[in-house]
Amino acid sequence: QDGPVVVEATGLVAGYAGTPAVHGIDLSVRAGEILALLGANGAGKTTTLLSLAGELAPISGSVAVLGDARRRRLHQRARAGLGFLTEERCVFMQLTGWQNLKIGQGRPERALDYFPELEPHLSKRVGLLSGGQQQMLALGRILAAEPRVLLADELSLGLAPLVVERLLAAVRRAADDGVAVVLVEQHVRQALAVADHVHVLRRGRIVLSGPAADLRDDAERIAATYLSE
Ligand code: ATP
Repeated sequence: QDGPVVVEATGLVAGYAGTPAVHGIDLSVRAGEILALLGANGAGKTTTLLSLAGELAPISGSVAVLGDARRRRLHQRARAGLGFLTEERCVFMQLTGWQNLKIGQGRPERALDYFPELEPHLSKRVGLLSGGQQQMLALGRILAAEPRVLLADELSLGLAPLVVERLLAAVRRAADDGVAVVLVEQHVRQALAVADHVHVLRRGRIVLSGPAADLRDDAERIAATYLSE
């Protein structure tokens, strides 16, 4: 991989009310690359992602995402190329699928390039769609805006394996088109299958990292050792 580094954290310490939840995270992601952050509940994955997104100021250390995009206001960050899929499913339940897509900054049709299966459902209210369809809509809307960075927090949580594969395939395709991706996941095997690089977090520290290709055969051991606390 030789794209420019667009996401970088150096010695990142971050937490809540002055109490650190992550203790010195170093990471960098190039354009076209997927970095997976794995770890058990409470390991510090979301805290790291919130810091990268500009939602949480570092206690110490530094974060650089697209230069200074995360310092801007929320709606300006998206315009600056920062796509953030939070843990809460980011859709408006009372609106239709089309209306949800139009709220985004991209062309609604572009979301259908990623998820053509959504088309027959777009005139329904989103509250009537399945969880998987809602998540495809949320991710499709973000990708339709052609972000340069995608931060995705447990996008596969609670969804059926086939849907998870569709979502992760879309993320891979976006990366292949040059997006830099940080993917927080608890599905070790699926994450290793699409990621380029992996950091495993435990109690706020990176305890294992390497190229995903080198760790694929170890998926079960990694899950048993680091994700079952
Ligand atoms: P999860 O899968 O549960 O989101 P995670 O790896 O993303 O896990 P974090 O959410 O980053 O972990 O949590 C790291 C630590 O920070 C945990 O000890 C958690 O209890 C604490 N924490 C998270 N959010 C808050 C908050 N809003 N206020 C105080 N402490 C928090």
